[in-house]
Amino acid sequence: MPENVLLIVFLFGITWGSFLNVCIYRIPLGKSIVLPASHCPQCSQAIRWFDNIPLLGWVLLRGRCRHCHAAISPIYPLVELLAGMLAIQVIGHFGLNWQNLTLILLGYAFIVLAFIDFQHYILPDVITLPGIALGLILAWTGWSAPPLATLHDALLGLAIGGGGLWGFAWLFQKITGKVGMGLGDVKLLAMIGAWMGWQSLPFTLFFASLLGTTVGILWMIAARRNRSQPIPFGPYLVGAAWAYLFIGQSVTHWYLGKG
Ligand SMILES: [Zn+2]
Repeated sequence: MPENVLLIVFLFGITWGSFLNVCIYRIPLGKSIVLPASHCPQCSQAIRWFDNIPLLGWVLLRGRCRHCHAAISPIYPLVELLAGMLAIQVIGHFGLNWQNLTLILLGYAFIVLAFIDFQHYILPDVITLPGIALGLILAWTGWSAPPLATLHDALLGLAIGGGGLWGFAWLFQKITGKVGMGLGDVKLLAMIGAWMGWQSLPFTLFFASLLGTTVGILWMIAARRNRSQPIPFGPYLVGAAWAYLFIGQSVTHWYLGKG
């Protein structure tokens, strides 16, 4: 892939990153993601276009509002950078075509879900339910080619990710009296199943649990957090599902001794 193409892909990505920031900030508050234009959450001053340039705006303002000098969270440039790198990762790995643009869209939904879950402990239906529908539509129209699922695998993925794990979460709660996995997590798994097929679910659940448990224990030690405080599972689920897209099939084949 020529470097100038990757540069354009990166610029495309960080521009979308600005929109993802709007989604991450506004969706949990129930605000419109279209209007009004971006403004400072502290002083409500509209942000001028040159301060709103992805990555560069935050760097030039040194992370402060031009008007009231309130600190602007480093999460904003972080999301923009992630969006740019994700676009390069997909196009660099799978090539530049229409299907892979839908993969970038999936990755962007994952970013929004992960950051919202991390900050608010919710995985909004307005992302997961259309996400499930779009996964099925892509599989049904035959648009999807590997690494995305066939319609058969997508439907099984939806059924197992949604139905099976809902049953598992229900049983876990009955036995332990604790909420192990929220319904938001179940809908996210159904979305992952609808895009990547049922085959992706064991890998995703295994590595998400491993990662979530490890980080959870380290976090508890470092911050002396109360054990009963919730730990969002969504960021680990999307992280593991995203890894599956790139290395899942080879890891699964290796594990089954076929590779
Ligand atoms: Zn301000």
